[in-house]
Amino acid sequence: MGAPRPPWYVRYQLQRSTQLIAFHKAELTGRAQPLELTWNARLYPLGSVAVFYPSYRGRGQSMVRPLKELLVFFLVLFGACGGIVALTVAQFMSPIRRLEQRADAMARGELADPVIVGGEGDEIGRLTLALEEMRRALRDKLRSTEEVNLDLERAVQMRTADLARKNRELAETLDKLTRAQEQLVRSEKLASIGQLVAGIAHEINNPVNAIVNTVGPLEQAIDDIDSADPAARGEAARDVREMVRVVQRGAQRTKAIVTALHNYSRTDDESVVDFDIDRSIDDSLELLRHLLKDKTVTKRYGDVGRVRGHAGQVNQVFMNLLTNAAQALSNRPDATITIQTTGDADHVEVKIADNGQGIPPDILPRIWDPFFTTKDVGEGTGLGLSIVHELVERHGGTIECNTQLGVGTTFTVKLPRQIPVAVKTRTKGASLLSRSG
Ligand code: ADP
Repeated sequence: MGAPRPPWYVRYQLQRSTQLIAFHKAELTGRAQPLELTWNARLYPLGSVAVFYPSYRGRGQSMVRPLKELLVFFLVLFGACGGIVALTVAQFMSPIRRLEQRADAMARGELADPVIVGGEGDEIGRLTLALEEMRRALRDKLRSTEEVNLDLERAVQMRTADLARKNRELAETLDKLTRAQEQLVRSEKLASIGQLVAGIAHEINNPVNAIVNTVGPLEQAIDDIDSADPAARGEAARDVREMVRVVQRGAQRTKAIVTALHNYSRTDDESVVDFDIDRSIDDSLELLRHLLKDKTVTKRYGDVGRVRGHAGQVNQVFMNLLTNAAQALSNRPDATITIQTTGDADHVEVKIADNGQGIPPDILPRIWDPFFTTKDVGEGTGLGLSIVHELVERHGGTIECNTQLGVGTTFTVKLPRQIPVAVKTRTKGASLLSRSG
């Protein structure tokens, strides 16, 4: 049995090509190599050598079965490998998933249950062990943090209680101070009222005495008119008229004192009213007449009109300043008090000047201090200017003191025409003693 004759194209490839040659008709595949001889620098082709082997098709049906078996083998092999991989993965994944869930629970703060450790045999075991150690460390930290928190909370509670107690003590002290202050203000008022009453009693005593001493002779004179002869009647009538005028003057003087006293007694009145500044000064002068008897009072009123505020409190300002001026002038031959009022659309200004001894520079900064006095016991309480300052401030005003030793002292009070709203609403118990100089 010989090989079939190759067709022309295969023969051609056999001579020229070294590439893979397919001889389909014989179901052969192979390679050829041309044979050549070089002789005397010439090349002599000798033919070609080819090696062919049967192509797959050439193997025929005999190859199909082993190939199928091989395929089945590989499929089974792949299946088994897949199963092994799946089993291995499942074996690794389930503890890792458990660890993951445990780690999540720990992150949420569930640190009470331990992480179950299966041993250190493999990586998962070591990981579990590390997680368990972490859980214990976290739990201990959390416990110590909670303890610190508890300690802190206890400390804060103690501090709060301490603060509340101190606060209560402060409130009580403030209350006591306020009461003491009110008491002092009251006693200052009582002292000045005492002095005032003594002066007023003396003042009223004179006109009342005059009336009382005149009424008897007046009665007698009227009787005498009836019994007198017509020639003497004219003389007796003149005496009667003269005595009636004495009674009238006494009554008017008494009325003036009572009216001034009535105005002064509005000191505690907290209501805001329109009042006349010049008249307020006149009322104070009226009540202090006993202190001013031997002194010249010069009034330079600018007809400043009315202001709105606490009339009684402003009266008290003038009373205190005039009292101080009068006391500074005691036993001076040319004692003069000059009162000047000026005003514009928004403010009124009152100057109370005396030609007294003046205030020495070393005590000047202290005159506004409560209880500072240079006067004898019973003459001064040291609260007058302190109260004046507070009352002026309450009205949104200012007060200044200009003094020169041996020349005199001038206090200048400047008040707004209208007491400011914020000041108006201040309570009566507000400090009358606290202020700066
Ligand atoms: P007190 O009149 O009860 O002493 P004040 O607070 O009114 O209290 O006055 C304090 C001090 O200021 C007085 O003791 C006095 O030394 C001084 N002072 C006040 N006004 C005058 C004044 N017009 N002239 C001289 N000194 C004055």
